[in-house]
Amino acid sequence: GVPLNRHPVADRARAANVPIIGDIELFALARPSLPPHRVVGITGTNGKSTTTALIHHILREAGVPTIMGGNIGLPILSQPPLSPNDAGTGVYVLELSSYQIDLTFSLDCDVAVLLNITPDHLDRYASFRAYADAKVRLFDMQDFDRVRNGTARQIFVGDDDEAREVGERSSPSETTVWAHWLDSNDEAQLSRQSEWPALQGPHNAQNAIAAISVAESLEIDLQFVNRALRTYPGLPHRMERVAETNGILFVNDSKATNAASAAPALAAYPPASEGRPRIHWIAGGLAKEDGLGECAAHLGNVARAYLIGDAAPMLAHHLAGQVPVEQSGTLDAAIRDAMAHARSGDVILLSPAAASFDQFRDFEARGDTFRAIVAKITAAGGQSA
Ligand code: ADP
Repeated sequence: GVPLNRHPVADRARAANVPIIGDIELFALARPSLPPHRVVGITGTNGKSTTTALIHHILREAGVPTIMGGNIGLPILSQPPLSPNDAGTGVYVLELSSYQIDLTFSLDCDVAVLLNITPDHLDRYASFRAYADAKVRLFDMQDFDRVRNGTARQIFVGDDDEAREVGERSSPSETTVWAHWLDSNDEAQLSRQSEWPALQGPHNAQNAIAAISVAESLEIDLQFVNRALRTYPGLPHRMERVAETNGILFVNDSKATNAASAAPALAAYPPASEGRPRIHWIAGGLAKEDGLGECAAHLGNVARAYLIGDAAPMLAHHLAGQVPVEQSGTLDAAIRDAMAHARSGDVILLSPAAASFDQFRDFEARGDTFRAIVAKITAAGGQSA
């Protein structure tokens, strides 16, 4: 968590020729002493945890020994290593933030994945370009001979200009898998997206295509991949389906702490067949920006908004005249207000587009509270999911 671009310890260490490395580098240095294994590294601005957990799930469905770690909240050094019995078959799946890559110098991934790059963490980097450069290094650390002969792979799925540029800059050869997420091969896969309950929305299409491409690179049989996409349970607080009662679905997307990450959730539930919008949107908290940002494009999917926390007046101002608004104030009131309006086929969605710290310890506490209130109400009122 030390901001190495500003903290004096970084300059002092450089002056003293002391390397600054992180836990992923310690793992990389330990690899020669581990039984033979493969490493999949996943980076990008958004979708890292989802894609990492999905790849791990696919491998488990296929019976491949696997350990997941890194930025996903499971430090890799605190996990027991793969067993010597799994030598040659086991796979470490690592979620890598740009900060972790900055402190890593010798991680040669068998499969390296870049999801997308959009402006983020600009307090920690001199420029957007510097942030993108940090991600490029994941590919620069790979053994290019192995990438050229196809025994190591690079996967780029982002359709943003920056992610493409990173792909072009770091790609040593045509063996790079340009699995751009809407090419014709991918569309055939995505025609089944409706069968993947925990992977709805265009952003999850991108995550799924990345995971499918990794599975192909690791030569996983497609039948396991297809089954895993259907059975993937999702991560808590990211489009998490917490209950379904009387035809009303409750979704916890508390991790969406800014407008850019709430927008895909709003896009994921288009109007019912008769054109009636069906999202009852619980939003608000501590705003990170003024306005609706990328959410503005999806208001046609919103039946009504229920606003909470500090950001409520600001959001109400921007929603005025576009969507009916309730000033609910608290999460508890918002859920009850939404239940008063929702009908069968509707979705009550907590995707706040704001941080949680005005009313909760963190986004997890906010999502847990949502889940607990919904469980209580549905247990008291209707049949639960
Ligand atoms: P990360 O680990 O990179 O923060 P997560 O998988 O935890 O990503 O998802 C965080 C939020 O970002 C989700 O709630 C979702 O709304 C949004 N999101 C997930 N995948 C993508 C994607 N591929 N592109 C854009 N937004 C995404």
